[in-house]
Order: sequence, then C-alpha cells, then structure tokens
Amino acid sequence: MPELPEVETVRYDLNKSLSGFQIKDISCNTTKILQPSLKEVIKHTKGLTISSFNRKAKLLIVELNKDWNFLIHLKMSGRLLIRDPGGVEDRWTRVIIALERKGIIKELRFADQRKFGYIKLIKKEELSDILSNYGPEPFADLSLQIFTKILKSSRRAIKKVLMDQVLISGIGNIYANDALFLAKIHPETSANYLNQNQIKNLFEAIEEVLKRGLKYRGASDNSYLDAFGKKGQYQEHFLVYGKNKENCPNCGSVIQKIVVGGRGTFYCPKCQLQERK
Ligand SMILES: [Zn+2]
Repeated sequence: MPELPEVETVRYDLNKSLSGFQIKDISCNTTKILQPSLKEVIKHTKGLTISSFNRKAKLLIVELNKDWNFLIHLKMSGRLLIRDPGGVEDRWTRVIIALERKGIIKELRFADQRKFGYIKLIKKEELSDILSNYGPEPFADLSLQIFTKILKSSRRAIKKVLMDQVLISGIGNIYANDALFLAKIHPETSANYLNQNQIKNLFEAIEEVLKRGLKYRGASDNSYLDAFGKKGQYQEHFLVYGKNKENCPNCGSVIQKIVVGGRGTFYCPKCQLQERK
C-alpha cells in the first residue's frame, strides 16, 4: 500500500501540474469507487476549479474552489495519473476526470487493479471531522515529545503502534520495517518498554527512512506508480523490508521473516535483539 512517501510524491506532482484546472467532465466504469455516485459528483463539481492538492496520512485531499473536496485513497493498488486525452492507455482505469486550463486539456485518471481505492466527494465542513481520526504527521505535528507520549501509553508491539493511523499518520509496512531496523529495535518489543534513547533513535530513524522514500520518489516493489506513470526507486534501497533470508546490510546475519499484526515483518535477529514482549 502506498505510504507517506508515495502519496506525498503523487500529491506534489498533481499540485504542481493540475492546480488551477477546471473540471469539464467525469466518467466512471466501476461502481463504488466514485462516491456518492457519478451523477451526484458531476452535478456538484462540473465547472469547479481545483485550488490545491493536500495530504493527511495516506489520504489525498483535492480542494475545489467552492464548498467541496475530493478525498482520494489509493489503498492497495490505486494510481493517479496525469495524461493527455487519447494518450497512452492505462490498465485498470476506473475514473477519468477531464480537466482544462487556458485551452490545455488534461485527464486525471484513477486506475486501480484491486478496486479498494476510492474518490469521495465531501463537503468542506466534513473535512476536519474526518481528519481528526488520524494521528500526528511526521515532519509536521509529530514531535519527539508527542511520539514519546504515544509510545509510553501503549503495551502493543512497537511495529503495530507505528502503523496505527489513529496514533501516527502515514507509516505503513515498508517504512515501519526499515525504521525499526535502522533504530535496532525488534518489531515485537512492547512500545512502552523502549527507553528514551531508543525512542529518540526510532523517531530519527522514521524521519530518515521517510526522507529516503521521498528522495527516491516512493517504492514500486508492488503496483505503485507516480502521477506520470513512472516507478519509484526506494525498493532498490530497502534495508530489511522484503529481504527474507538475505544478509543483513549491517552485520551479515540472515534476515528473518515473522508476522506482526497480520503483516510480513522483516528483521535482523542480531541487530534487533528482542528485549521484551
Ligand atoms: Zn544485522
């Protein structure tokens, strides 16, 4: 699933390329992806202009110039693609938003193989309620102090806490695995067992792996593509994620795979010693 670096890369490109464009038309070939319905969405948004593309956690927020926002979630395999009309075909295209600015016509396509993603039209006033379900955001309101408080108040496995969007925004399986490796913390350690030094190391490791993810424009080990249909490169720089039975980049030990919170979890048994569950 696209995480903070992937969604932020897409947001940045969309904001740069499509802000100021006006919605000319929308088409949709798959039910439930466009909500509440194609008819309703067209009725309220045709002729509106896109002010900006924002993000909270893994959620994209398209601000329109009236009382409306689109909320877009890519979920497992969603892609948002900027295309010229009649240009390359994109497999699994579900929704096409036709846009125009000063005679230039573009398409914003939502393609999604597995169909878990969505584009939801909401009233602007509903936004703050929805966003209040998400925890603080790395590089923004997630300070070391707040991070410490979050960890100290949970006995759950640290990896589960990192990935819980209610507690912290934007971290998913890839970056949780690599951050824990960088901080030399076993993924099953109870969050409230970590000492202040470990918490600080982990806080810095999270920022470091997310920065690397952003620098390489996301990870395309799976279906993720950026807004121009190009792959990210972070998968070439994974530390332990997806590296079952390969050698630890730090000590050479064999990387192990376990399951934590239902997700494949990779760690080095020597660098990330288990301290306490
Ligand atoms: Zn190691």
